[in-house]
Amino acid sequence: MIQSKLRDSFGRRHNYLRVSVTDRCNLRCAYCMGPEGVEWLPREQILSYEEIVKVVKVAVALGIDRVRLTGGEPLTRKDLSLLISELSRIRGIQDLSMTTNGLLLPEQAQSLRRAGLQRVNISLDSLNPATYRRVTGGGDLQQALAGIEAALEAGLNPVKINVVLLRGVNDHEVPDFIRLATEKELQIRFIEYMPVGVGKMEQAESFFPVSAALEAAAAYELSPTEKVIGTGPAKMYKLAGGAGAVGFIPSISEDFCAGCNRLRLTADGFLKPCLFWQDELAVRPVLYDPDQLRALFFQAMIVKKKAHQMGEDGQSVKERCMSRIGG
Ligand code: SAM
Ligand code: SF4
Repeated sequence: MIQSKLRDSFGRRHNYLRVSVTDRCNLRCAYCMGPEGVEWLPREQILSYEEIVKVVKVAVALGIDRVRLTGGEPLTRKDLSLLISELSRIRGIQDLSMTTNGLLLPEQAQSLRRAGLQRVNISLDSLNPATYRRVTGGGDLQQALAGIEAALEAGLNPVKINVVLLRGVNDHEVPDFIRLATEKELQIRFIEYMPVGVGKMEQAESFFPVSAALEAAAAYELSPTEKVIGTGPAKMYKLAGGAGAVGFIPSISEDFCAGCNRLRLTADGFLKPCLFWQDELAVRPVLYDPDQLRALFFQAMIVKKKAHQMGEDGQSVKERCMSRIGG
């Protein structure tokens, strides 16, 4: 394996780029943008597919070999398959994935797979229709479940399910989600609520640690495993006799910054070395100068800090909400 040239001041090599293709969304999750939503960026500020491909090509030449599309809701951007098809032709990308709320997968999963998308993470915070509707600001659970089926049928593999743990909202559903992983070949990942952006939920009150979710999973026989594709910071477990797997991501209660290998490209063209810190580098001014674009990636390595400070003394990210950063 070729080592990435993108090494920061703390020795961490970066091989993973998350690309936000839009800040727009067809849901209004309470912890992400809240029921009123956020103002959309003007279209002319959003990078075109051609511009995204240009940035990704430079990133790959420097050692990025994992690319994840995200947003906003990536499937709301027109003709996303065209972008995927361009990206899948870039030699050097080993892993091309997407994070989505899944609502538009029934009509798009097959064409995304044909275009070269390898796998998806689908966000699903409740298996109860009323709770799902409430958390997502009006989403239809059946449509999300149909999206999961469509992803499995299209052969997007593995299909991971992201569950943001919310105290008093879905914490009692941990066993239900695990049951789902015994029935279907899904990787269910419980994620801690991060104090990012303008979501209208009180983070301190709604926070539910993954350690408590692990306790709630006690009735299941879980055996630790590392043999799961693209696990990132998740602690993964196989289920005795089950098809799927379960993961726990302690984004706040445990600091996994020491192993960070990620960079983010926002939909409006900023390279962000870290979700938490305000540092962001504008790609637009250097888009047509490959040397300067390369230099921008190295600059991102220089400014990248050692760790985030989310949760410390109530610190949060206010400048950009998750849908604008690209979660
Ligand atoms: N719309 C897509 C979706 O929901 O999957 C992609 C974008 S969304 C911003 C990416 C991920 O960020 C989702 O899994 C979502 O649950 C998660 N997310 C958003 N706000 C969050 C927060 N404050 N804390 C933890 N996860 C969050
Ligand atoms: Fe939209 Fe995803 Fe944010 Fe929910 S978490 S509002 S689906 S961007």
